Amino acid sequence: MKLSNPVDELKGVGSVLAKKYDVIGVNTVDDLINFYPRRYDDYSKVESIKQIKPGHVTIQAKIKQARGRYVRRGLHITEAVASDQSASVRLVWFNQPYRAKAIKLDANYYISGDFELSRQRLAIMNPSMELVSAFPVNTARIVPIYRETKGLRSFQVRKLIRQIAPIIKSLPETLPSWLITSQKLISRAEAIIAIHFPGDQQMLDEARRRLGFEEVFELTLAALLNKMELTGEHALNIKFDLNLAKDFIKHLPFQLTDNQRQVIWQIYQDIGRDQPMNRLVEGDVGSGKTVVATMAAVMAIKQDFQVAFMAPTELLARQHAETIQQLLKPLGLADRVGLLVGSLKPNQKTKIQQDIKAGRTQFIVGTHALTSQKVDIHRLGLIIIDEQHRFGVEQRKKLQAKAGHMPHILSLTATPIPRSLALTLYGELDISVISTKPAGRQPIITKLYSPNSRPQLYQTIKQELDSGRQVFVVCPIITESTSLAVESAEHLYQQLSTGPFKSYRLGLLHGKLKNDLKDKVMSQFSAGQIDMLVTTTVIEVGVDVPNASVMLIENAERFGLAQIHQLRGRVGRSHQQGYCYLMLGDSQSPSRRLKAIEQSNDGFKLAELDLEIRGPGAIYGTIQHGVLDLRVAKLTDVKLISAARSAAQMFIDKGENLVKYKHLSARILSLRAVTSLN
Ligand code: ADP
Ligand code: MG
Repeated sequence: MKLSNPVDELKGVGSVLAKKYDVIGVNTVDDLINFYPRRYDDYSKVESIKQIKPGHVTIQAKIKQARGRYVRRGLHITEAVASDQSASVRLVWFNQPYRAKAIKLDANYYISGDFELSRQRLAIMNPSMELVSAFPVNTARIVPIYRETKGLRSFQVRKLIRQIAPIIKSLPETLPSWLITSQKLISRAEAIIAIHFPGDQQMLDEARRRLGFEEVFELTLAALLNKMELTGEHALNIKFDLNLAKDFIKHLPFQLTDNQRQVIWQIYQDIGRDQPMNRLVEGDVGSGKTVVATMAAVMAIKQDFQVAFMAPTELLARQHAETIQQLLKPLGLADRVGLLVGSLKPNQKTKIQQDIKAGRTQFIVGTHALTSQKVDIHRLGLIIIDEQHRFGVEQRKKLQAKAGHMPHILSLTATPIPRSLALTLYGELDISVISTKPAGRQPIITKLYSPNSRPQLYQTIKQELDSGRQVFVVCPIITESTSLAVESAEHLYQQLSTGPFKSYRLGLLHGKLKNDLKDKVMSQFSAGQIDMLVTTTVIEVGVDVPNASVMLIENAERFGLAQIHQLRGRVGRSHQQGYCYLMLGDSQSPSRRLKAIEQSNDGFKLAELDLEIRGPGAIYGTIQHGVLDLRVAKLTDVKLISAARSAAQMFIDKGENLVKYKHLSARILSLRAVTSLN
């Protein structure tokens, strides 16, 4: 049996079960090995029946009698009596009609379950049981609980992993042996066995330490290697021109915040050196990152460099081009700005490409169309990447390659990445944070609603529409799904446009629409020709529709806080009050997370809270979809993280050859692609 073999080659897995494994992303033996439990129930203490008290209990006993019956239609009860030398206890199972027949009378069983009151009498409810053995799987141990789906329960996963235990035990080591020794780590094989079937709590802790260490080690090593690749590079410095900076500021229609000034100053220092800048500016939605980036760009174009400003959507690119032209007009530089997006007509495209090549267009704003082979930006001195997390490393590399020298890179993001996470993720980067917003902004009013107050909420929304404002309605999914009880954009659009909002102009926008249709709908909304836009998270990215004042988010419980925060940043972008209404799914109650977003308008605080409550996955979701997952390591485990980070540095200092480590080098390769911002 090989790691790459599909799970349906394992005993007991047919095509039906294989489909269920597919749902949870498990297709091969290797996937199964890496499908870690989400939690554990401790049933490791075997007690005599006389000793047991209400709660989780495990006994070793024989079954004297077992009987099943239907008490009414749809409710089957199996009752049995288990006895050991000390006493007897009642066992009860609901709706498991096969139970009674499966029990071997007078055999020795481990029985684990919750000992509690049932109809005034104590009983062990719905217990798991298995014959006594040296390696119990479902009872008499710390029992792993996996992510379950319909028709795939933890006990089935356990059985299968038990089956492949011999494969796990022979897994090769992936870390250098000097590291294993110096850090006193258990082997990879031991760790993976223990993460699935921990012998005791201490083994589980050791397994977590080993696997968590490995995760952070790999991530840091990838980041360090990325950084090393850059430090040897030579960039052309862009000199600071005080008069130009003053001139720019003088003509702004507003005062820069102190925070903006600080960040611009940092950038000027970076680009003045002959080493390439690699800086990420994090700033909440609406914090004014565009003007900061433009100030850096002005310095570059005045010194005859070209600047590429890449945005994730055409609409955004168009908006940026306009904004930037306005900003450059007073300096007489507006004609240096050009727009390059996929939907330009062929002759327009040819013209802009010629202008770029000739150096007439110096400030090139566009989408990934900028990376096309036909675009020749040989005077490229500075790359600006808006909404950085939307781009893959390949696109950045292509753009970079257009410069004669290594260009400076400025990345912008509105995803508030907590510092602890940023250090691990982007150790190679310099990070600036714009934490204050321009004065005079009103915080968005956020309110939770449950489905029964929908009619009342719709009234409120209608009032807003009637006074000329526009509304976003965001759904978690595009198309109705049988397995998920959540609102889909298509379904809700159908309902709202024929029901409560039939006298308004509704639009539907989601990721599966063709690009030109997407742009068309979005432009119509921008132009006020659509009143209510039913959509998905495609609108998360920085689109500016100042007249939109309301955002309704359906099934809010399914979104990360950072994500909701970014979404609601689409409204309240002018002097008008913005509202964000969070609609809970059926039978959902407001959680601590969602209450927090009702009360706080601070993206960083919310991201920290999400990190604490839901783990890094919540934030990764908004950063990058990819191989990046810290499944074991906790970012709050400062000791582990610092040990793993220095180990990665040591790996490099020792002059270790990555090629020697097959598994590690493969991991590093994929991680570098995800974490790199070069
Ligand atoms: P984001 O950081 O989300 O990209 P933008 O750069 O789009 O934000 O800025 C949002 C709005 O705030 C723009 O209309 C911009 O002109 C305005 N703005 C930027 N800086 C300031 C400031 N210091 N004072 C007032 N308004 C500002
Ligand atoms: Mg922006």
